[in-house]
Amino acid sequence: MNKKRCCDCGETYNEEFFDLEGKGTSRRRPFCTICHQTRRDKRKSVDRWLEKARWTLTHHMKSLKRTRDELIKIFGWDVRKMAGDCEHAFKYTCDYCGTKFDDMVHGMADITLDIVNIKAAPFYNVNTRWVCNVCNARKKRMSTGEWGRYLQYVTSWKAQQRKLEKNPLLALPMFEWAERR
Ligand SMILES: [Zn+2]
Ligand SMILES: [Zn+2]
Repeated sequence: MNKKRCCDCGETYNEEFFDLEGKGTSRRRPFCTICHQTRRDKRKSVDRWLEKARWTLTHHMKSLKRTRDELIKIFGWDVRKMAGDCEHAFKYTCDYCGTKFDDMVHGMADITLDIVNIKAAPFYNVNTRWVCNVCNARKKRMSTGEWGRYLQYVTSWKAQQRKLEKNPLLALPMFEWAERR
């Protein structure tokens, strides 16, 4: 059997491990079957994030009462950049509550674009942040004062989590008294 080298992974395999370029042709793709599948999955994933970015743009046109052109040309809402940023942010935690997106259950629906200061111009990246859906909804419901206090509670909560990592016994009721002294 003829051998062929995959131009993606660089390994050499028998030719049958390379997909045909189409029906009715004997020409094979330059990358092996698994590398081909990986490429397809990657492309699908890029498409999904792009779709999400487009949807986000459309959604905010209404809530910000701006045209698509204004958001793109004046405020820098570049859909490709947004898709990349969103996908990147999704690998980490919500900026507000610190929860990992991975630990949430709704997949891509868990990440949303927050307009940090709704009264200021909606410049992308300057006045926007990719955060979790729960925080975004909570922030909309709360007054500025309530939201500020909420962020302080979250900061205290995170500090407590760090203490608990060092000493899990701190969560027991008997330690409340000792802590307060
Ligand atoms: Zn390969
Ligand atoms: Zn959050």
